[in-house]
Amino acid sequence: MSVRPIVQIGDPVLRQRASVVAPEEIASPKIQSLVKDLIDTMRHANGAGLAAPQIGVPLQVCVIEVKDNPRYPYKPRIPLTVLVNPTIEALGEERFDNYEGCLSVPNLRGIVSRAVEIRLCALNERGELVDQVVRGLSAGTFAHECDHLHGTLFVDRVEDRSTLCTWDMFEAHYRDAFVERVEALVARFGS
Ligand code: ZN
Repeated sequence: MSVRPIVQIGDPVLRQRASVVAPEEIASPKIQSLVKDLIDTMRHANGAGLAAPQIGVPLQVCVIEVKDNPRYPYKPRIPLTVLVNPTIEALGEERFDNYEGCLSVPNLRGIVSRAVEIRLCALNERGELVDQVVRGLSAGTFAHECDHLHGTLFVDRVEDRSTLCTWDMFEAHYRDAFVERVEALVARFGS
């Protein structure tokens, strides 16, 4: 197990476009140990996802997993998913105001508008094609991680900056209304 330090906002690696991984390299020890480190570091930090630039590696690899997450107790479960070279495309016009946070942006949350249905294409850790539709709140989780691979942080996507808040202020003032909206969304989409 190898828990790596998480890079914080201001480090240029979070702002560069990560490089595509050649499919034949996915099985290499370098990429396989990167995937293991991402999983270990994500779980150690109670993240819902982690992208390679967040541990200082500018490659298009990210991992996502949600199960009983103390940082995001309202998030529906997502089984462990490894994505290499992911692309996402919004399906339809409907969007959801998601209160996001990020392990690379300490103690800050804010509202980001995310598509509620996306098509996700990627390779997994075995080099197999992933082509799936992700709906509901989980679509925002995938979009957040894919943004990291293109040098974008959630704060770049916060349109109404008056929604920016610390985690304590989120709990005190915004959590209840947000969780109500999340539950309605999850009830519709099942995720
Ligand atoms: Zn993040």
